[in-house]
Formats: sequence, structure tokens, C-alpha cells
Amino acid sequence: MLDQYNRDINYLRVSITDRCNLRCMYCMPKEGLSHIGHDDILRYEEISRIVNVAVGTGIRKIRITGGEPLVRRGVVDFIASLKTIPDLRDISLTTNGTLLSEFAGKLFQAGVKRINISLDSLNPEKYERITRGGDLNAVLKGIDEVHRIGFSPIKINIVAIKGFNDDEILDFAKLSMDKPFQIRFIELMTLGRTDLDRDSKYLSNDVIREKIREIYRLEPVDGERKRLDGPARIYRIAGGAGEIGFISPVSHHFCNLCNRLRLTSDGHLRACLLSDEEVDLKGALRGGCNDDHLAKLIIGAIAKKPIRHDLACDEGHIKKCIKDMSTIGG
Ligand code: SAM
Ligand code: SF4
Repeated sequence: MLDQYNRDINYLRVSITDRCNLRCMYCMPKEGLSHIGHDDILRYEEISRIVNVAVGTGIRKIRITGGEPLVRRGVVDFIASLKTIPDLRDISLTTNGTLLSEFAGKLFQAGVKRINISLDSLNPEKYERITRGGDLNAVLKGIDEVHRIGFSPIKINIVAIKGFNDDEILDFAKLSMDKPFQIRFIELMTLGRTDLDRDSKYLSNDVIREKIREIYRLEPVDGERKRLDGPARIYRIAGGAGEIGFISPVSHHFCNLCNRLRLTSDGHLRACLLSDEEVDLKGALRGGCNDDHLAKLIIGAIAKKPIRHDLACDEGHIKKCIKDMSTIGG
């Protein structure tokens, strides 16, 4: 379905839980994050119904995310059940990768072929620090396993953080030389509650790209592939097996290409990650609405999708969003 700015809204991201087995410093505070009550989290059958109706309004792809989606009980069966929805062409997953070596085979069988894995440092001690307790080895094992099984594409997401992982940029870039992974640098955004002063830790992808260019020849990947990769600007190190992507919501917003909606774990539909305006689908569902009404609410959210976010205004001021990333689903 086209929105008022002619964007074809065909992609829904679904946060199935706000819970996580890590507490990344840029995503959650160390303490005091009051989790949503169990009754306020959408049940799987409620999510399935919303996805079904959303497909009727033109959604063709969904991505399961969170919080950490693999900590929610029953996630594999839930994903497998979505395969039966006619016209839903693609189901992908974003994960921190810590549980992947256990889940990879089951997810593949359930229909997930495309996977994004977050990895903000290749140094075990730094990884443990940024995630507040995570085990780098477990993630690396998970990545090996999805590669062995044949997931494709495998995308590795790195949130660039000034003074933390800017000394690892070339190590990350090098990962794309030998393995067919897409290594993606994501600019740090200021949303939700954390203890980290993200404004001062922000690092533009322009700086990262130049650092890589000082050492490697970066060739742009154009054409159909580029179109399918949505907001990421994709390059390849000459001769490399994989790719390097830059997702730059702050320095170069890509709102004109944005084709997505987000279903939050507490049952709200959000047309823009960086705007707190939402439509309450859970209230409508639990109030007994029929599918036509649900479809109208989804179409209404699409109609109100803003032309662009205003996270970073031209004056350099950075606006804050209130809802946490783990509830919204990154
Ligand atoms: N737990 C899973 C994971 O970490 O991949 C899925 C949920 S997480 C919220 C989804 C993505 O959002 C991750 O790639 C994470 O790095 C990113 N993210 C979280 N907070 C962010 C922030 N403040 N700025 C930019 N990206 C962020
Ligand atoms: Fe958990 Fe993902 Fe947020 Fe890290 S980024 S705390 S893994 S939800």
C-alpha cells in the first residue's frame, strides 16, 4: 500500500518481547528498566492475527525482533506457524546471537533464511563490557553455525560508538574479506532510557567509511542488490567475499526509502521508529474488534507515516524518543 508520499509500505518489524538476556549500554539502562507485564505483551495468536490482517493491507515481509526474540518461549513454533500465511513472502530475524548455536537449525527449518546478528566488538572483554555480561564466544559460535547451515544473507550489525569500537573498524571491515557476510555499521541513535550519553558517543558513518577507504578500495554495489538492501549503502572491498553496509539514520536519513511499520511488543503500531506516535492495536483486539476494523487501524497508521524523522535537526540538536528500543524492536 502506498502512503501519502508514495512509499510502498510492505515491511513489518515485530518485537515479540521487550526482555533480553543482555543489557547493551546503548540500548538499556543497567537497572530500573521496568519490563512490561506479561499480560500487556501481545500473545502469539494476537501477533499472528495482526500479521494476517497486515498482509491484507500489502505487507509482504516481516522481521522478528525484540528485546531478544530467542528468549521468548515458543518462538520457533510461532515463526513456523507464520509460514502458512498466503502472500507473506519473507520472514527474517534480528538477534544478539548468544543463543544461535542452539536455535539455528530449528529456525532454518521454521522458514528463517535471512538473519541479522548484533556484534559490537571482536574483543571478548569489550564485548562483555558493552553488553554487560555477554559471551563473545557464544556469538561467534552462532555465526559459524548459521554460515554452516546456509542462512543467506547473514548480516552483522555493529553500532558505532566513539571511544569504544572506533579502533576496531578495520577488523570488522576485514571480516567481509573472507566470509560472505554483510558487515553493517549503524549510527547510534538517541531513543529510550539508557545510562550512556549517546549524543557524545555518536560517530558518523562518513568517518567510518573514510577510515576504511584509507586502507581498502571500496567499490559500491549497485543495481538490484542495492534496491533490495533498503536503507543500507552497500560497498565491497575489492576482491572480498562479503560486503560492507552503512546505515546512517542520523547523518543521512533515508526516510524517503522507508517502507516499514513496527509492531511493538506491547501491541502498538508505530509508523516511524523515531516518532512516539502510535496506534493501539492491542486495545482494539482485546476490545473484540473485527478484522476490518483492524485493517482500518493499520491503514490509518500508514496514512499518518511522517515524511521524515527529526532525530537530528539541521542545527545539530538531537531529539529524544521516549519508548525503549527493546519494546519497539530495532
Ligand atoms: N536483541 C536483538 C539484537 O540485539 O540484535 C534484537 C533487538 S535490538 C533492539 C535490534 C538492533 O537495534 C540491534 O542491532 C541493536 O544494535 C540496535 N540498537 C539498539 N539500540 C540502538 C541505538 N540506540 N542506536 C542504534 N541502534 C541500536
Ligand atoms: Fe538486548 Fe539487543 Fe538491546 Fe542488546 S541491543 S540489550 S541484545 S535488545
